[in-house]
Amino acid sequence: MNRTPLPLHKPAENGVKTSRFIIEKMDCPVEEKLIRKRLEGSPGVVGLSFNLMNRELAVQHTLVDSSQLVQALESIEMAPRSVDTDESARGATTRPAVSKSMWLLLGISGLAAVAAELTAWTTGNERSLYIALLAGVSVLTGGLPTLRKGWIALKNLTLNINFLMSVAVIGAIAIGQWPEAAMVVFLFAVAEAIEALSLDRARNAIRTLMTIAPETATVRNSNNEWQSIAAASVLPDQIVRVRPGERIPLDGIVTAGQSSVNQAPITGESMPVSKGVADTVFAGTINENGLLEFRVTSDYRHTTIARIIAAIQDAQAQRAPTQRFVDQFARYYTPAIVGIALLVAIIPPLFMGLLWSVWIYKALVLLVIACPCALVVSTPVTVVSGLAAAARHGMLIKGGVYLERGHLLKSIAFDKTGTLTHGKPVVTDTIVLQDRSIEAVTQIAASLDANDTHPIAKAILHQWNALSPDRDARELYAVDNFAALPGKGVSGNINNTPFLLGNHRLVEEHGACSAGLEAQLQSIEDQGKTAVVLIERDTPIAIFGLADTSRPWSAEAISSLHALGVRTVMLTGDNDRTAQSIARSLKIDDARGNLLPEDKLTVIKELKALGPVAMVGDGINDAPALAAADIGFAMGVAGTDTAIETADVAFMDDDLRKLPDFLRLSRNTTRILTQNIAMALGIKLVFFALAVMGEVTLWMAVFADMGASLLVVFNGLRLLRTFKE
Ligand code: ADP
Ligand code: MG
Repeated sequence: MNRTPLPLHKPAENGVKTSRFIIEKMDCPVEEKLIRKRLEGSPGVVGLSFNLMNRELAVQHTLVDSSQLVQALESIEMAPRSVDTDESARGATTRPAVSKSMWLLLGISGLAAVAAELTAWTTGNERSLYIALLAGVSVLTGGLPTLRKGWIALKNLTLNINFLMSVAVIGAIAIGQWPEAAMVVFLFAVAEAIEALSLDRARNAIRTLMTIAPETATVRNSNNEWQSIAAASVLPDQIVRVRPGERIPLDGIVTAGQSSVNQAPITGESMPVSKGVADTVFAGTINENGLLEFRVTSDYRHTTIARIIAAIQDAQAQRAPTQRFVDQFARYYTPAIVGIALLVAIIPPLFMGLLWSVWIYKALVLLVIACPCALVVSTPVTVVSGLAAAARHGMLIKGGVYLERGHLLKSIAFDKTGTLTHGKPVVTDTIVLQDRSIEAVTQIAASLDANDTHPIAKAILHQWNALSPDRDARELYAVDNFAALPGKGVSGNINNTPFLLGNHRLVEEHGACSAGLEAQLQSIEDQGKTAVVLIERDTPIAIFGLADTSRPWSAEAISSLHALGVRTVMLTGDNDRTAQSIARSLKIDDARGNLLPEDKLTVIKELKALGPVAMVGDGINDAPALAAADIGFAMGVAGTDTAIETADVAFMDDDLRKLPDFLRLSRNTTRILTQNIAMALGIKLVFFALAVMGEVTLWMAVFADMGASLLVVFNGLRLLRTFKE
């Protein structure tokens, strides 16, 4: 791999640099705490951010170089591998989670532990030399890493799982419970190994996304020959060729050929899309049957897929609300239980004359129960699995927080043009009001709209091109003082005559309305069409009727949302009559027309009073409304520059049915998070009660801990299958 990491954070300010490290030993929040303890507040360190799923640590610091940081990390056995700008590292650690030799040692440890337990059980004696030997072998083969980490934790005064386990093992040996100590060591080591393996599954789900784009590209060189080179060294504007069956290596625009392309890696939709000249192609998608040549539009690091991956990795690094709660909880839980354990060990023997060995044993069991690993690991695994499943389905979720918030939505507001409809209106009616020809008014309108990018502007230009197929006659007037009037239309001067082109509101504002004009507008709008008026000075001279068609899946998406109990609202700057007509055909609950961009914002705020609200738009217009909503969804962002960055949740294609999919994923995620927390805490609670009553042995407590961790991890991983049949 030769992919360059993308910058995760803003560029350095006033001498603050960011050094990134991959720390292979860092996969549990335990290690994060240890590293924080060691680095936070040490001179020159400004901030730390962790991405446990990628085992990545970013340190913001003002040091000359990072050697000091490396030393500090080495001192706590967290030897880092530094990642500089050109290394291939992002999330691409290849080390297997559990090496062969680790498995071998585990096997020996297990055999010795079982033999020790069996011997003790059959002979009824727990302290023979033979048992001590077996237990010793088990602890040395299975427990050394734990004991060593426990020692480091002690030196750094952190209460972590390794420290607690070490105390439990040493304590058990001290009170003569050797087989018990061996069993604890072995079971704990197995639990750690399995946990590492399952976390790897969640990591792999995202890593597979990264290996999607090919490493090489066939480009045309200066001698007009095809040459295969590293995709990373291809520059924008170079021409790349893709054969049938090959993956497309970079983003670009087709310059020759015709083919169908499977865009599932980006959009999650495996129906092939037909591509010809001027169509956009994306890195990572698969060219199915034709030969395509395309002009590269962005370098390897800024392709759509690269941006998706960068965004997911940022999303992972942020803590979802549940995770914050859990971390907060764990901060008090562990010391509290350790405190109780201390009391249990000391008070009954000291003040009530009870047996020291019995109560110390109970205290050791409590120490094991004090480990919050299942609880702490349950949330990130679940959230990351949800984010990964979504990404493979063509939905980019910018943080666990949105995943958790989605199912709370009470209402969803939709932009009309381009979201519910295709956003490609066509001119269907041209009504001339004064003594002019259709060509003449269309030419004026097109001249004005040549300066705008609104879908209506494109439609009017298109109409002009269609009216005058003869190239030479297609010329447009020069426009002075052009202005776009958001939510209304455009204005400008042609040959010193002022013109306006826009909706009914604009006509009214200029006092150019009349009963006759209104009747004509109304008859167009009643057909669900958009009407715009061309005004010369103060006189309307033409009306254009434009029809846009609903996207085929809009109605289905709306009815799924209703089934999920969400209220739907359509917001548009188009006139109210058109809005109502389209809303009726799609069965949308409520439609508001004649809205200026700031009115859309007001409606969002008003809807917020009823509960969390989402806004769905194309991500470029309607930015204030998108930002004000609890979740801003952008549609069809593949290939757009800003939409991926600005939305909270971005759908790669225009398929609105992803919206109900997202809500269901959010619902599942929340359910699994709740289940996990309940399971992790419930198991602890039961064992805590049993331990106080003296019903639990040490190995049972470790076993329960392991069981709880595995249950929550596997439960979380279930989310990966959300969109697979
Ligand atoms: P929406 O995105 O909800 O369709 P906009 O606020 O973008 O609404 O636009 C509102 C209305 O303003 C359009 O329906 C149209 O009537 C008018 N309008 C906007 N831009 C133009 C333009 N360039 N040419 C003609 N009319 C326009
Ligand atoms: Mg719009």
